[in-house]
Amino acid sequence: MSGMESDPALFRLTYTKLETFYGCRKRYWFSYVSQEDWPPQKESPASLIGNGVHRAMQKLCETGDPRDGEHELELYLRMPSHAIAGPGTEHHTLAFEIYANGVKAHESIASEDRFAEIDTWVPSKTRGITVRAKVDRADRLGPDRWQLIDWKTGKFDLDDKVDRQLDMAHLVLRTGRQLPHAATVRAIGWNLRSGQQRVRELTRDDAVRTVDYLMRVVQTIAATIEWVATPGPACTFCDWRDRCVEAAQVAETGIDWLDEDWERAQDPF
Ligand code: SF4
Repeated sequence: MSGMESDPALFRLTYTKLETFYGCRKRYWFSYVSQEDWPPQKESPASLIGNGVHRAMQKLCETGDPRDGEHELELYLRMPSHAIAGPGTEHHTLAFEIYANGVKAHESIASEDRFAEIDTWVPSKTRGITVRAKVDRADRLGPDRWQLIDWKTGKFDLDDKVDRQLDMAHLVLRTGRQLPHAATVRAIGWNLRSGQQRVRELTRDDAVRTVDYLMRVVQTIAATIEWVATPGPACTFCDWRDRCVEAAQVAETGIDWLDEDWERAQDPF
């Protein structure tokens, strides 16, 4: 579901855009300002595992029968273009282990109703922005009580990023399911690999504050003139790396590539 259309007069902010701006302004410039053609997207075993498990969890949420998710995952990883995580590879095995944890997670949730993949724009004309994010799964736990989940499949997650993502997903849930003012939401970043859960308790007031915060972020982006590069571990996953002078310079002059934090951040999947 693509959700409602966005108003072209409003600044469109997605979670990815926000994280790109915070991570490296030059990368933001490449992606959203420069109008350069996007380099071909590279699939990695981690992205295939993540996509496959998310698709499987969507099917499981839709029908409640684990066989539907299992079939989706099996079919997805069997596609010829996904051979790097295809049958017989360690990534394939890992994907099914993660999905098995997902089935257990699903079975542990008792709710009145549930919805998979809510994806919509949240426009605020007075603030000049429209926000888009995605909710992997939402459960109605009671008349004014909801839960949203963002499934994670990497080795670890960065708390501040998960929090921003959950806050944006919260806006999408309130809009997409037209929650009453009094409704409260438990938002969970649930890692199906490590079992870790990052939980936020959110109210309508929090949603208003989130939109106000995002409006101020957009003002910062709009006022940006200098798109400074921030070479770092994230360059490993940057589609623009081949065209980025600063990343090439850092690679040449060298930094401590063996630094532990650096290595950890380079290998989050
Ligand atoms: S390669 Fe690194 S420094 Fe260059 S745009 Fe990408 S993230 Fe920024």
